[in-house]
Amino acid sequence: MAKPRISFEFFPPKTPAGKDKLLNETTPALNALGPEFFSVTYGAGGATRDTTLGVVSAIRETGIDVAPHLSFGGDDEETVAQLLETYKARGITRLVALRGDMPSGMGAAMQLVYANELVDFIRQRTGDHFQIHVAAYPEIHPESRSYQSDVEFLKRKLDAGANSAITQYFYNVEAYFYFLDQCAAMGIDKPVYAGIMPITNFQNLARFSRNCGAEIPRWICKRMEDFGDDQESVRQFGLEVVTQLCQTLIESGCPGIHFYTMNQVEPTRQIYNNLGL
Ligand code: FAD
Repeated sequence: MAKPRISFEFFPPKTPAGKDKLLNETTPALNALGPEFFSVTYGAGGATRDTTLGVVSAIRETGIDVAPHLSFGGDDEETVAQLLETYKARGITRLVALRGDMPSGMGAAMQLVYANELVDFIRQRTGDHFQIHVAAYPEIHPESRSYQSDVEFLKRKLDAGANSAITQYFYNVEAYFYFLDQCAAMGIDKPVYAGIMPITNFQNLARFSRNCGAEIPRWICKRMEDFGDDQESVRQFGLEVVTQLCQTLIESGCPGIHFYTMNQVEPTRQIYNNLGL
């Protein structure tokens, strides 16, 4: 069984204490597991431009491979080009390129730039400097016109020069396998890594999942309801479910797993250890 390529995602902490913990505790602890790279998210509309840059730069200074997420948000081309130059100068060699979402409260005021156009822009301005990852949705992006069109737009992003895709998290493993088949049928031959969200706070996860194009299967919801406030049972069951999901993926030759760590060491480390990686 080939070991899949592993990566870990963070979000930029809001406070200096949070940043300190992320850089001095969380990153070294997860880096000990030997990931290929880390990534750091980007706030809607560019809200975390400076904090994402700060966290990414600090991680990179320690010699670790790290990818900032990037979208146009409300920025103009020169602002994004400048940010790309800054990342280059700081030794960053990969990016996660996204359209992103409208910042809350913006209504339709902002014109979002599709990810394929951002990939085009990055390639025009920086050539082959960056390895580019894009987003994919095994259960289909919530705004998508159809299943078929969403896969076509993924192909367009990859044809524009992205190297691979990372999926939205999912708990229906069949959705991922079916999606890979559809991608292959459409001529996509670049890797589509599985995005995995450990289950920690079930209420928050359920709320978030309603909007982001990921379904939590009914049997998992029902079991979680049984546990109520019993956080230890929620944690244990969550670990079992996600470990089993990863196990199935690895046995099926999944090329890589991207953990949405939520800046926490333990859930990801326990799943990783359960898998015997
Ligand atoms: P796109 O690929 O541009 O697609 C958006 C929608 O438009 C889809 O419905 C698609 O079918 C359609 N579409 C695509 N291209 C075209 C086109 N050319 N013409 C017409 N329609 C088109 N959000 C953040 O705010 N910050 C992050 O850091 C972040 N990181 C993420 C990381 C991963 C791995 C994933 C899976 C998601 C992430 N997101 C993040 C969420 C993401 O920004 C949202 O899902 C967003 O709504 C879509 O971004 P995208 O890059 O997938 O968009």
